[in-house]
Amino acid sequence: MNGNLNQDTICALATANGMGALGIIRLSGKDAVEIAQKCFKGSNLLTAKSHSVHYGFVVENRTEILDIRPETGNEKQVSESGNQQPTTDNQELIDEVMVSVFLAPKTFTAENVVEISFHGSPHIAKKILEVLVKNGARLAKAGEFTMRAFMNGRIDLSQAESIADLIASENEASRKLALNQLKGGITKEISLLRTELLNFVSFVELELDFAEEDVEFADRTALSNLLIKIENKLNSLIESFKYGNAVKNGVEVAIIGKPNAGKSTLLNALLKEERAIVSSIAGTTRDTIEEVLHIKGNAFRFIDTAGLRETTDEIEKIGVQKAKEKIASAKILLYLYDEFDSTPREVISFIKEFQRKDLKIILLHNKIDLKGGYFENDFDTKIKTELFPDVTNTILGISAKDPESVESIKTELASYIEDLRESESNVVVTNQRHYEALKNSLLAIDAVKEAISAKISTELLAYELRNALENLGEISGEFTNDEVLGNIFSKFCIGK
Ligand code: GDP
Repeated sequence: MNGNLNQDTICALATANGMGALGIIRLSGKDAVEIAQKCFKGSNLLTAKSHSVHYGFVVENRTEILDIRPETGNEKQVSESGNQQPTTDNQELIDEVMVSVFLAPKTFTAENVVEISFHGSPHIAKKILEVLVKNGARLAKAGEFTMRAFMNGRIDLSQAESIADLIASENEASRKLALNQLKGGITKEISLLRTELLNFVSFVELELDFAEEDVEFADRTALSNLLIKIENKLNSLIESFKYGNAVKNGVEVAIIGKPNAGKSTLLNALLKEERAIVSSIAGTTRDTIEEVLHIKGNAFRFIDTAGLRETTDEIEKIGVQKAKEKIASAKILLYLYDEFDSTPREVISFIKEFQRKDLKIILLHNKIDLKGGYFENDFDTKIKTELFPDVTNTILGISAKDPESVESIKTELASYIEDLRESESNVVVTNQRHYEALKNSLLAIDAVKEAISAKISTELLAYELRNALENLGEISGEFTNDEVLGNIFSKFCIGK
């Protein structure tokens, strides 16, 4: 996988496309400095030291300007002067720039890299890219810079993916996790164990060469112990995905309750905006509305749903169906009820229908202002007796419009993430592909364990071990295929 497979020099806008004080265009490839020099009026970049910055102008040589114009009869004269250092008269100044030169191999892509910092106009960006292309560069494809960094062995695949995560991070928690990943987090955790396993594979394969002599170079007990160690590590990483996924993608929270329980009122109070339509006519929140709320740096995705009740109204029926689907994907259920319009039995039977092991249910006894405050009465005692401790529930007495109530709900939500965090190791898996690869690795390790205990042939054991190694190598990209790579890097933007 290593080695410089790319001979082309690529270029792209590295900053966001749009107006800004500055923009940066990046070039990478073996001819990056030569190409930049052809378009640059300033000091000589060809003799520039690595990691140096140079003031000057991006220029377009008249030769090139004339090249794309209709024939004028001046071509002979132009081509004669074509190879010479152009004079000012022969050049069109495009922009005043700063050019940074980074020489291989200590660069992001491990190739020669040039960054042109220009005045941030999309038009200037386009002009500079045109000039670079005319001088031998090619426009980069999505994710191609990062892909080169990976291909040239600068970073492993999981680090490449973390760059996309870092750029996409919207809150503190996801930024920190992505940065940890960029520093090699998950690969470091696995690679040591993988190396140990590789040693065993070598010994087992050696046994194949001495098949006739019935020798055992690989100590099966030591191998079994290593497998248990790997299994534990995989399990803890797999477990960490709950937290990692919550941080990266947010936690889905479904707000459920009968019509008029106060769901829209609560959602509005949580978001402090009048987004959902509040109405006292039962059945108004017909569709699901999703809003994101950040609590202590973590995203909670709120789904306000149509009231759950038997209905004959066709549109409302769709809403009820959607609500059920939303509960299925939610991690937290906020169930609202009030004493005036429901019975403990209704609440209990609803919760019993929807409770799941991985669903945190928070019961919200709403409209307590109508009773002058919350005190636990028969109503909630009945609910608690029937539901607790089977379901880890919490009952909060609230008034949906009251800021104090809103705060208490937020605290409860934040504790969900904190609880997940507590049980995790330092390295947290945030990426779905890594999660899948870890689960496959676990299956492969299981197969090796079975192969040992069933005392099957050394050939098969060697096969299962190789399979486990490949699975473990998938996260870092040691074992991968073009389809997987194409899929990962196509999700990047151009310029990354
Ligand atoms: P939804 O159908 O569950 O979305 O219920 P809404 O949020 O539309 O609320 C129905 C009615 O109950 C509205 O008139 C709200 O103003 C009222 N309501 C909601 N929460 C409270 C509360 O805590 N106290 C009082 N007194 N009224 C509330």
